[in-house]
Amino acid sequence: MESGATRADIEHVVTRLRDIGAEVHVSEGQSQTVIGAVGDRSTIQQLPWEAFQGVERAVPVLKPYKFVSRDHHATNTIVDVGGVSVGGQAVTVIAGPCAVENRDQLFAAAAAIKDAGATILRGDAFKPRTSPYSFQGLGEKGLELLAEAREEFGLPFVAEVVDPRDMELISSYVDLVRIGTRNMANFPLLAEVGRQPKPVLLKRGFTATIEEWLNAAEYIYKEGNHAIILCERGIRTFETQTRNTLDISAVPVVKGLSHLPVIVDPSHSGGRRRLVIPLSLAGVAAGADGLIIDVHPAPETALVDGAQAILPDQFSLLMQQVGRVAAAVGRTI
Ligand code: PEP
Ligand code: MN
Repeated sequence: MESGATRADIEHVVTRLRDIGAEVHVSEGQSQTVIGAVGDRSTIQQLPWEAFQGVERAVPVLKPYKFVSRDHHATNTIVDVGGVSVGGQAVTVIAGPCAVENRDQLFAAAAAIKDAGATILRGDAFKPRTSPYSFQGLGEKGLELLAEAREEFGLPFVAEVVDPRDMELISSYVDLVRIGTRNMANFPLLAEVGRQPKPVLLKRGFTATIEEWLNAAEYIYKEGNHAIILCERGIRTFETQTRNTLDISAVPVVKGLSHLPVIVDPSHSGGRRRLVIPLSLAGVAAGADGLIIDVHPAPETALVDGAQAILPDQFSLLMQQVGRVAAAVGRTI
């Protein structure tokens, strides 16, 4: 309460808190009174306490997210993606083209990443592009090709959903549904992905704080889908040498706050081919449970994100180096 709050102001707040079922603890100091309220957070927060006369500040002590927090679930969650575990002892590598362009391109990438040891394929059929004039993806045809590649190479796959109207279609094909950075705060889309049966890869919004990102995960969890993997993919900063700044500290911070697995995207964060290996190594060293990497058999012909796609040979080298860093931090790949 403000130092000038009257007894009547204090009593009014205490009464209103008791009315809504909170347990109230009042401590009176020399010049200020602190009112502690214990009870259901969502009930207590329904009232605009800072609008009450004499109230200086209302400070929530508990985290705004609940189910995705480590306080709720102390041990690491392991997410099953079409038979591949994410969040266990092994570091999971997801790789493939940014977008599915045609059968040859997808199959060449899938063969190469499988050969190098990746266990999940990536490739998008619906692309959220910054410009409306850029290639938007092959749509359902792209999903069909991904499903064919899954059969051929035995690799489960992830693809992005951008529009709730496509959710059922995408969910019926994929092993893992991705929510991209531009949609992290699209709450109807989060609720929708929380109501479908496939696990979810939730990318961090490029302007989102860690707390906002975990709240987005809470939206999904709350709808009943508990198989969520978080992905740090870089945030917007003042730096222009990279496309986004990979927030490497987010990995140990989120591992501390949440029980959900966390992976790193070194491709969309750096935005440059030569940064992909060093950022991958940094991610694994920092405790990431996996990586998601753009690999293209001929990046100079790529319709999307060619500058950051690595070639199959570079991907094999990456896998060897990541294997050594994983071993150094007590993990396998
Ligand atoms: C992607 O992974 O292809 C992608 C578009 O990523 P982001 O949403 O992180 O930009
Ligand atoms: Mn991309």
